[in-house]
Amino acid sequence: MLDNGMGNRICYMCNEEKSGGIEVLGNYICRRCEEEMIRQDLDELKMEYYKNNIKSLWKNRFS
Ligand SMILES: [Zn+2]
Repeated sequence: MLDNGMGNRICYMCNEEKSGGIEVLGNYICRRCEEEMIRQDLDELKMEYYKNNIKSLWKNRFS
């Protein structure tokens, strides 16, 4: 988890500095990317993209 000490954090998905959002397995995901993930069933390609991101997230966690 990255923290710049000013309440904002770097999003794991888009690498932008944001506040709010959620944390998944200790990795910060901004509100916009969270909403993208919720919308993912509307876009199969995007779903694959995010699934791969989640997979690498797990891999990083346990490797
Ligand atoms: Zn983001």
